[in-house]
Amino acid sequence: MEIKVTQAEQNQLKTKPSDESQLGFGDIVTDHMYKMDWETGKGWSNPRIEPYGPIAIDPAAMVLHYGQEVFEGLKAYTAQDGGINLFRPEENFKRINRSAERLCMPEVDVNLAMEGMKKLILLDRDWIPRSEGTSLYIRPTMIATEPHLGVRPARTYLFYIIIGPVGAYYKEGLNPVKIHVEDFFVRAAIGGTGEAKTSGNYASSLLAAEEAKKKGFTQVLWLDAAERKYVEEVGTMNMFFVIEDELITAPLNGSILPGVTRDSVIRIVKEWGIKLSERSLPIDEVIAAAKDGRLKEAFGTGTAAVISPVGQITYKGEDHVVAGGEMGELSHKLYDEIVAVQYGHKPDPYGWVERIA
Ligand SMILES: *Cc1c(COP(=O)(O)O)cnc(C)c1O
Repeated sequence: MEIKVTQAEQNQLKTKPSDESQLGFGDIVTDHMYKMDWETGKGWSNPRIEPYGPIAIDPAAMVLHYGQEVFEGLKAYTAQDGGINLFRPEENFKRINRSAERLCMPEVDVNLAMEGMKKLILLDRDWIPRSEGTSLYIRPTMIATEPHLGVRPARTYLFYIIIGPVGAYYKEGLNPVKIHVEDFFVRAAIGGTGEAKTSGNYASSLLAAEEAKKKGFTQVLWLDAAERKYVEEVGTMNMFFVIEDELITAPLNGSILPGVTRDSVIRIVKEWGIKLSERSLPIDEVIAAAKDGRLKEAFGTGTAAVISPVGQITYKGEDHVVAGGEMGELSHKLYDEIVAVQYGHKPDPYGWVERIA
């Protein structure tokens, strides 16, 4: 299927940000977007790149009422030699299809979506920032567009991709965050939609996050829904804990989002010969280790921040400082390794980088 390209007129072009050091996250979009449509009996059709702009959907569109939405987040990086790198993009498209299956949405045609994404990036390549830590954020999304007020899977969908320049996640370096262990609200239960990247999971997480922010915390650490006993993930990141010489992360048991960064960290530490356990980790074990000095480090992993060190964990009103409130040694090493591969500062021994220009 051929992707039709309609370029923005000169007067539709936006002003690009002039100061890359001022880039934040998620506010700036480029001049174009990719779209394609799906309909029962017909499949995907009309792949196209158009000027960026609002999409008209019916007020009865099923996404607005019953939440059939799935999305992804990945990045393009300006490589050291001026080329453009993607990091494990096929993993994001595999995941959007697993999310779609859970939400009774159609499978995205991966080849077509990847081709559209690359064409879009190349068309708007002047928007990709170049300085250290900056990148182009890519947001593939699928929504149910059929107008129908009744609960069942929709018969029409729109898939689209929007992109925009984002800053180094940490303006003041790798700042350790304070996290609040949430022992009332839950993010996801086994059997629910926690392992799908779908909007409803985030809507339901807002209240706990807002209450934690009011108390000065950056993030909420979620516990399992059944017992509020085991650590799961934090915000939009998977969690890792270093207790003595063991690196521990929650297993993918159905309530956890299978992060691409999580998977990359696991692969790297196995390569480095570090003892890695994917196991249910009781919060009591974390707190006991924090108290007697065996908790060496804690960090979150996700595309936006890569590695986000935790400097303080607060559980049942008690604060526990982690790694002296600094970024731990392993956190730092992992951050450096992943970033070096993404930006082509060193050869990619893992086969993760896809060069598109
Ligand atoms: C996206 C996301 C992650 C991180 O996934 P990456 O593929 O590493 O970016 C972790 N947890 C949640 C809830 C997420 O939405």
